[in-house]
Amino acid sequence: MKELLLIPGPTPVSEEVLSALSKETIAHTDDRFASIMTSALDKTRKLFGAEKGFPFIIAGSGTLGMEMALTNILNEGENLLVLSHGFFGDRFVDIGKTLGVNVEVLKAPAGETVPLTSIESTLRKHHFHAITITHVDTSTGTLADVETIANMVHEVSPETIIVVDGVCATGGVEQKFDKWGIDVIFTGSQKALAVPPGLTLLAFSERAIEKRKSMAKVRTYYGDILRWMPVMEDPHKYFATPAVNMVYALEKSLSIITEFGLPAYYEKHTRMAAKVRAALTTVGFELVSKHPAPTLSVFKYPDGIEDAAFRSKLAVKGVIVASALAELQGKAFRMGHMGSVTEDELLVALKRMLEVCQELGVKVDKGQALNAFLEA
Ligand code: PMP
Repeated sequence: MKELLLIPGPTPVSEEVLSALSKETIAHTDDRFASIMTSALDKTRKLFGAEKGFPFIIAGSGTLGMEMALTNILNEGENLLVLSHGFFGDRFVDIGKTLGVNVEVLKAPAGETVPLTSIESTLRKHHFHAITITHVDTSTGTLADVETIANMVHEVSPETIIVVDGVCATGGVEQKFDKWGIDVIFTGSQKALAVPPGLTLLAFSERAIEKRKSMAKVRTYYGDILRWMPVMEDPHKYFATPAVNMVYALEKSLSIITEFGLPAYYEKHTRMAAKVRAALTTVGFELVSKHPAPTLSVFKYPDGIEDAAFRSKLAVKGVIVASALAELQGKAFRMGHMGSVTEDELLVALKRMLEVCQELGVKVDKGQALNAFLEA
């Protein structure tokens, strides 16, 4: 059986997408490439709900998206408020500090989100030039209520630029960039979009672009949106060579998702999450997050299951899950159920997990878990 890559990214890549990736490389200024890039950019806009946003597709991982988001909207010495519900929220603190920005962080305990009241009182105390929200933090599997937070920011501090990290959310969770008034959003290719790692997709609002234009100095060359905008408007133009084959793969995957229908794709993620959770909690695993995301689950082990043994025995059976991060390491594992993964594949993974539990001497009611999966 094909290995089942159920880590929270990269996720399995379909044969169709892999075959698009392996097509002959053509010139990046060729008409044929320009039209594939333009199609991928149009679909990126739809994915983010950003008909009014300016889209970018750039070679680099999700961290490039994080860095571009901040470098293009914050001058040195400006104030950034980071909402962190995990490891990837914390990464914004590091990037902000690297850029010489004043960073204040509101940090939630593992599995929780920052209370709206504390965000509001912090925004009333100081002026923040920007705020970051990690839509889904991949370390805890926690989903932030971006719409409610954005509404409150617009009311309390309308000048604050809103940045959303969609790396582990976009495609698996609906995002409404225009409607929610987001200024910068980005994602990576390797999660719910089911493309290999290597591209970051972004959208900037008019207000965010104006902010960049007002900045006398920008602390990036490759990541400067003003250098990329002419290329995204007309992909025949050159700034730096795009990842031609990765764009083929992205365009293919976005076409497949569009054909499937975005609402149906979100629904599929919600359904798969519900099934996996119903099954594993029945046999003693505990979901870490109080606001669980549809794209991944972080499960605490029942007594008697040792992390490294569980994951390595599962890997021998062809199912790959990830270790937990930070304070959850050793106590929990992370499982992605996003992108092109099917219900049948998840059912196979569940059976293998139940076998491993038994091999480790933990009694589990297989029938009950499988029923819970099928009925959820
Ligand atoms: N943000 C989130 C929410 C992520 O999950 C990740 C990657 N797991 C990143 C940012 C960083 O992306 P990358 O590893 O592609 O640089």
